[in-house]
Order: sequence, then C-alpha cells, then structure tokens
Amino acid sequence: MKRLAELGLRHLEIEFVRGVKMGQDTAKEIRALAEEHDISLTVHAPYYVNLNSAEPQKISASKDRIIQAARVGAWAGATSVTFHAAYYHDDDPEEVYGRVKCSMEDMLERLDDEGIAIRLSPETTGGPSQFGTLEELVRLGVDIPGVYPCVDFSHLFARSLGEFNTYEHFQGALQLIKDNLGAGALQEQHIHLSGIEYGPKGEKRHLPLEETEFRYGDVLKALVDFDVAGWLTCESPILEEDALILQGLYDELKST
Ligand SMILES: [Zn+2]
Repeated sequence: MKRLAELGLRHLEIEFVRGVKMGQDTAKEIRALAEEHDISLTVHAPYYVNLNSAEPQKISASKDRIIQAARVGAWAGATSVTFHAAYYHDDDPEEVYGRVKCSMEDMLERLDDEGIAIRLSPETTGGPSQFGTLEELVRLGVDIPGVYPCVDFSHLFARSLGEFNTYEHFQGALQLIKDNLGAGALQEQHIHLSGIEYGPKGEKRHLPLEETEFRYGDVLKALVDFDVAGWLTCESPILEEDALILQGLYDELKST
C-alpha cells in the first residue's frame, strides 16, 4: 500500500486467483492500510470456478470459492469481486446462461444472509469457450439487480480475435452498459486492462502494453469521454510499470 501511494497509484486488486488463503486479521490490516493511503480495493476470486460443470459438487465448490473470496474481500473493504463464471462445454449458451443466473441468485442470497456487502461482478472472458460476453453479463445485470459486469477490455479484444479494437467498439461497450444498467453503472465500474496476445482460441497470454496490438489508449479515451468512474486494474506481466503508463495516459486525457 505504501509503495502504491508513493507511485501515485490508487487502486489494487487482491488476487485470490490460486485460492483464498487470507484470514480475517490480515484482511483487516489491509483495510486499515488501504484507508490510510486512500487506495480502493477489488478482489479476483480463484480461477478454479465453473458454474456450468456437469458435476454438481464442482458447481457447489465453485460457489464456495467465490463466496469465500467475497467474504475476505468484504473484511478488507473491497467493493467488488470478479470471477470467470463458466465454460460452455458443448451446451447451448442459453442453457448455460440459465445455470449461471441460478448460481448467481443462490450466491447473492448467501451473501445477504451472512451480511456480506460486496458486489458480485462476473468478468468478460478471453476465449469463445468461456461464458462471459459483455451481452451475457449485461443481461445478468438486467435480470438480477445489483449485479454488474467486470469489463476486461483486453479479453473482449482477444475473444473477438482482434476485431474489438477501435474507439467505436469501446464506446459501444460503455453505451450498452449505460443503456441497460443505467448511467450509475458507469460510475462504479470494475475494469481490467492489459496488453494481450490472442490465437485461434482467443486469449493466449497477457503482454506488456508495449508489445500488444490492443489499442488500450483508445479504451482510456472512451472511459474519459463517458466520464466513467470506478476501479481499473492493470493485469500486465509488468504490473506497476504498465499501471503507471495507464495512469499517466489517463491523467493526460482527463486534463485535455
Ligand atoms: Zn480475470
């Protein structure tokens, strides 16, 4: 937290991607430090999640992992927890949508019962085998009030095999959210951004900004033009270096 503040960065995503191993004491310590240094927090739940598994016990374990990430995230004062919701396998996307929706409702009920106040934000995913187009996630938000997508713009670029890569596309994505979930959604937007490389199956790996074809500068421009607020995490392999590039570019666009 101290280092982030020194660098002039203002947000951190707690990456529970390989499992939630943090206890309440550490989470509370993080909360105090984040408040002291004025840093906002979000959480990434474990990768081992599939709300469309053929095995019911795997769906149940997936929900438990998301809930655990949400619980610890809430202790730390995080605002939103994101996760990659499901794989389609060979199922009809409409059926997958129904199953994800059902799991989302179940998890929200459990969070509510436990009094855990944190947003569940399924993420736009990087490959066509994964549930999580922006349209699917916006639809979830329409069907379940209080659910908002975590928009990973780099994933949308990768899953479109490079097509989603213009200012108009980025603007269109923000407009879709605004039209369906309200202008307020863009005031508390969970966002991921990084360089990325794709192949025939979508996302291959994250890249440093300098090495990507993805036009992240135009994403920032769209965010500024739509007056988007919220939490942006840089998921580049060179985290703070690239985060500083994004922050610098954003500040520059914002001031012109
Ligand atoms: Zn992710």
